[in-house]
Amino acid sequence: MKLIDTIRLEFSPLIQDIIYLDSGASALTPNVVLDAMNTYYREYRSNIHRGLYDFSERATTEYENARETIAQFIGANRPEEVIFTRGTTDGINMLAELLQDRFEKGQNIIIPVTEHHSNMLPWREFARRQGLEIRYIGLKGGILDELALLAAIDEKTALVVIGHISNVLGTIHDAKKISDKAHKVGALCIVDGAQAVAHIPISVSDLGIDAYAFSGHKLYGPTGIGVLWVNYTLLQNLKPHRTGGDMVEYVTLDTMEYAPIPQRFEAGTPPIAEVIGLARAIQWTQDIGWEFIQNHEQELIQYMWQQIVSRPWIELLGGEKSIPRIGCFAFTIKGIHTHDISYLLAKQSICVRAGQHCASGITEKLGIAGSIRVTFGIYNTVEEIDILMRELDSIYHKFQ
Ligand code: PLP
Repeated sequence: MKLIDTIRLEFSPLIQDIIYLDSGASALTPNVVLDAMNTYYREYRSNIHRGLYDFSERATTEYENARETIAQFIGANRPEEVIFTRGTTDGINMLAELLQDRFEKGQNIIIPVTEHHSNMLPWREFARRQGLEIRYIGLKGGILDELALLAAIDEKTALVVIGHISNVLGTIHDAKKISDKAHKVGALCIVDGAQAVAHIPISVSDLGIDAYAFSGHKLYGPTGIGVLWVNYTLLQNLKPHRTGGDMVEYVTLDTMEYAPIPQRFEAGTPPIAEVIGLARAIQWTQDIGWEFIQNHEQELIQYMWQQIVSRPWIELLGGEKSIPRIGCFAFTIKGIHTHDISYLLAKQSICVRAGQHCASGITEKLGIAGSIRVTFGIYNTVEEIDILMRELDSIYHKFQ
């Protein structure tokens, strides 16, 4: 059996004969991940960091081992830099709270218009509270104008926020270059890795950034779990934003002392099964290996390009073929509403996304209402692209 067939067997929803082309919204979960979470619930279901009995110790060990797996996966220098969150949105909002009162009125924050709302709205609110000027960076040639972004960074820049990969255009941004420039003026560089972690190997240390947020559910893990990685030096200077159980070393009626990093940033009972599930998802993808994952995705990307180019009525967003990208294709078809297209595709069990994809800065700048977005996961095949294209042909001809 070919590796792709073995991989597909891990994903039960695929048995239902669906064509799932919406992994950018949420990837399917392999059975090994469900099994790992099930084992926790069936065999050692208990809280962490508290009980001295075997169950709890096992839960604590699995939870902390997961932190190490994730730290290694993203190239963190130490596991303590990994903070568990509910997802990217939660992580970025958390960071916006943690960074309060560090900057002065009149400083600026750089936000590309390509950002997902999760990496835009928390910073807009942050800027309003802190009196920072917002500098939006626009598009050039249909993609983020990275040169304009670099040029906009100046002595008054406090923060540069950037999506590692655009969730609409699929284009990969040069986070290292942006971070280097930000650091030259003493600004922080915060990266939204939601679309990157399942597609390209990451090393937060090599990128030289200050913080990186991502969600488990886009990485074949469960929902409700995410990671906020923060550089240890910065982390040491941040005051916990939430208080409660498990984040304190000791408490008297008058005093309290924070628990060590990272526990001080994880108040209350965390999503234990989901943390274990996320680590299992990462191990599973790493067993398959980046070589297969990336080669397979490139094959799909090249095939999709050929199909799109041979249909001039498909208007692709996101610039030229030579631009580094992942398997994420957003497009419009003149004269047909994106919701009509996705509805008709859904009737053939083809799952894609339609609309603004929570990144309305792009649609606003391009002057379009929305787009259809096709995103690939580890389980997709060229045969599925053929079926998608046949249906698009049929929709296009129906509307002529
Ligand atoms: N950032 C990007 C680039 C995304 O694609 C998404 C999800 O689509 C998010 C942030 C938000 O992720 P979550 O809803 O898991 O918090």
